[in-house]
This record gives sequence, structure tokens and C-alpha cells, in this order.
Amino acid sequence: MENVEKWYGAFHALKNVNLNVRRGEKIVLCGPSGSGKSTLIRCINHLETIRSGTIVVDGTKLDDGQKAVDTVRREVGMVFQQFNLFPHMTVLENCTLAPMRVRGVSKADAEVTARKYLERVRIGNQAEKYPAQLSGGQQQRVAIARALCMEPIAMLFDEPTSALDPEMVKEVLDTMVGLARDGMTMICVTHEMGFARQVADRVIFMADGEILEENTPEEFFRAPRHERARNFLGEIL
Ligand code: ATP
Ligand code: MG
Repeated sequence: MENVEKWYGAFHALKNVNLNVRRGEKIVLCGPSGSGKSTLIRCINHLETIRSGTIVVDGTKLDDGQKAVDTVRREVGMVFQQFNLFPHMTVLENCTLAPMRVRGVSKADAEVTARKYLERVRIGNQAEKYPAQLSGGQQQRVAIARALCMEPIAMLFDEPTSALDPEMVKEVLDTMVGLARDGMTMICVTHEMGFARQVADRVIFMADGEILEENTPEEFFRAPRHERARNFLGEIL
């Protein structure tokens, strides 16, 4: 992202955002509520349109061309706070839909891939269930598996554990740690600072639509450079 400016009407939501994420890198994005974290990651797969600046994902420049948008959305998976599973479809169907529709994969192949990723998030035995029959943590792991079924080059997470009951947070974080260990490129909006310490290559701190600090997790937690980051850490830790 280069010099990205995002406005919602008269509200300046992203201010000169510059962010370069390398392949395999894990970024944790944090900051106070309303600072623009969701906006930033939603811009990456064009769920939001920017006013100016440049966003390039794996060589594809996101302009308003639908082809570029489709390419990027195929390549970048996203997991939301509210799992956004299709309620009328089974777990397996949730996982096979996009590969079949968007990638043109056959049903049989899509199911093989889906079962592989459902196993990987340790939910292989729930494939025939409907989302409402699963716990929140299980549903979120299905959402992760569903994104992985598209074989993305990168994954965006927007507070994937903040809607979960405390006892389910760990199973989802463990899944994300596994993904990180396997080398996935990840941008995670999360206030799970244990996760940040464990896997982040860089912590990015935002406030009021601006990136105020980029730091290693060690330094960010030990000695945040920006006063607002210090205040923020004081509140959440
Ligand atoms: P949270 O931690 O609460 O999720 P956030 O850092 O993700 O916050 P954003 O959701 O990116 O924050 O919102 C950034 C700012 O943009 C907020 O002030 C919000 O009110 C505003 N905003 C977000 N979406 C819209 C929208 N669709 N229309 C107008 N303003 C919006
Ligand atoms: Mg948000």
C-alpha cells in the first residue's frame, strides 16, 4: 500500500498509509477502536474503495477494474469477527462453494481439498453439519478452512477471536499459529498480544487512521515508541 487515502464521505479514515508486506511475513495490526484497522485490511481485497494511493497485491494493481479485483479476491482469503458462514449450507458445502464457482474446480476435487483443510483445523468430523450446530470456535475454524480451500497466497484476519467465548479463543489462535508456522502470509487485526509475541514479524499500531508505529513485537511490548501506543498497551494488557 502506497500513500493510501480512504474517506467515508467527509470522514478521513486512512491517512497516507504505507505498508509493504513481504511473502511469508506475519503482521499484527492493532490500535484503538475506530482507528481504521478494519478499513485498512478491507481495502486490500477491495471491500472498500480508496480515494487515492496504490494497492498492489502480488503484482496485481487494484484499480477499479473488476478483473484485478477478482484476481486479488481469489488470492487473498479473509476471516471476519462474525464468521459469515452460509447458514443453509453444510460445513463441507461452505468449503467447496467458492473453489467450484470461482476456480472452476470439480465437486469431487473441491471436496477432497475441503476435507484436507477441515482436518487441518481439526474439524474433519463435522463436515456434514450446519453452522448452527457448531460452537463459535468450531464455526470460526470452518471459516478459516473455507478461506484456505481457495489456496490463498495471503490471509487477512479481522479480530477473528473477539466474538468468541473465552474458552474457544485458544483453539482458533492455535489454528492461526499453525498457519503461521506453515509459512502463510498473514495480516491479523487482533488484540491477542500473546499471539502477536508468538508469531508476528512486525506489529503495526494505528490511531486515527494513521500508522503511528511499526516495530518488532519484542520492542513494541517492551518499549513502544509512540505515546499513544504506550497508552493503548496500558489499557489492553
Ligand atoms: P474496531 O476496533 O472498533 O473494529 P477499527 O480500527 O476496525 O475499529 P474501522 O472499522 O476501520 O475501525 O473504522 C474506522 C473509522 O471509520 C471509524 O471512525 C468508523 O466510524 C469509520 N467508518 C467505518 N466504516 C464506515 C462506513 N461504512 N461509513 C462511515 N464511516 C465508517
Ligand atoms: Mg474493526
